[in-house]
Amino acid sequence: MSNIQIPRGTQDILPGVVEKWQFIEKKAKEICGKFQYKEIRTPIFEQTELFQRSVGDTTDIVQKEMYTFEDRGGRSLTLRPEGTAAVVRSYAENKMYGQAVQPVKLYYFGPMFRYERPQAGRYRQFVQFGIEAIGSDDPSIDAEVISLAMELYRELGLKKLRLVINSLGDSSSRKAHRDALIAHFKPSIGEFCGDCQQRLETNPLRILDCKKDRDHELMKTAPSILDYLNDESRSYFEKVKKHLTDMQIDFVVDPTLVRGLDYYNHTAFEIMSEAEGFGAITTLCGGGRYNGLVQDVGGPDQPGIGFALSIERLLSALDAEGVELPHEEAVDCYIIALGDEAMDYSMPLLQQLRREGFSAEKDYMGRKMKAQFKAAERLHAQHVLIIGEDELEKGLAVIKDLQTGEQKDVPLENIVSFLKREG
Ligand code: ATP
Ligand code: MG
Repeated sequence: MSNIQIPRGTQDILPGVVEKWQFIEKKAKEICGKFQYKEIRTPIFEQTELFQRSVGDTTDIVQKEMYTFEDRGGRSLTLRPEGTAAVVRSYAENKMYGQAVQPVKLYYFGPMFRYERPQAGRYRQFVQFGIEAIGSDDPSIDAEVISLAMELYRELGLKKLRLVINSLGDSSSRKAHRDALIAHFKPSIGEFCGDCQQRLETNPLRILDCKKDRDHELMKTAPSILDYLNDESRSYFEKVKKHLTDMQIDFVVDPTLVRGLDYYNHTAFEIMSEAEGFGAITTLCGGGRYNGLVQDVGGPDQPGIGFALSIERLLSALDAEGVELPHEEAVDCYIIALGDEAMDYSMPLLQQLRREGFSAEKDYMGRKMKAQFKAAERLHAQHVLIIGEDELEKGLAVIKDLQTGEQKDVPLENIVSFLKREG
């Protein structure tokens, strides 16, 4: 029989690497605590219709990338391709708009699924960290959301970042821009890919996001959304930019930045890595405002804004900048037990040490003393604790500090206090 292999576009995260993931998760949660975002956990699958309605029928995600299946009850379900739709569904379903604390500030951390062509930075199962602030349309919350992402990257040690922002305006601005886009592309649409030809009818804005036709001459001369913003949209965008400037967050405005999902309006942003050798896909984080989305999934008309970033791309960016995250925790105390009696004694001792808060380990392989020392070194143990027949008889253990080489006889009943003092 042939070996069974991991599915294409997925990865095992093994000990040695998983510590990086845990560190990032811890940092993200810490920052969310400071910013007062609370965790929300929604199901891994949702009704397919949720994504069709929210992400949008005309998007790549819904048209090509979803893992959709029928369950045994004949319902169409989809493994979540992104987080916002489910959070907004839950917000509406649990009537969070009625909560005393507003806006509702939520974060999530978990796997997403997209049927994409696997390549560097593109997986079929990947982990996103994202936040949503729902219930406020004050430009300061846009700046807060952007700053939280920047803060996470900064705290993890990334320096070579570029924040790109744009405004997609409100629906009347978008309508005017849409008409201008159709007029611009229609005469030569035959020169564009099949997807773009379809987009002209369904969602012409998304032509600007096409990866195949990005170098076409007409892309460069396409009408800019910024020329179609009405006064309200323009002044909203100005305020967001002012907050960012006041917070000393550098950004560039790119009027061709349109996000892949249908539900965005007003503020849209992406954070890219500018590290050399990062590769072709440089977007680390994408987000924007989605006034109207709550209503689309059946809730009241409440404004929202959020972002999502993947841990896979964050790790590539850390690699590209040569940033090392703190590594696995070393063992505080490794017990080397010699002889049956000492072996038996080591079990309750391990239990006691662990209860006292130490990370403690012993040999389970029946190794000789020298090999047990080797094992302790391999685990970067701070101390080894040696007990043999002799020591037991005298009521002592030998504790050796592996860093300094210093060695002391310690009465068995003083082991914990000794190790506590040693740190
Ligand atoms: P792209 O243009 O690269 O396909 P997207 O617009 O589809 O990105 P979003 O839906 O905005 O991406 O997701 C937010 C973030 O999630 C992206 O900025 C990226 O960091 C990450 N991401 C998206 N798709 C994948 C994937 N297949 N594998 C790993 N990370 C991903
Ligand atoms: Mg994509």
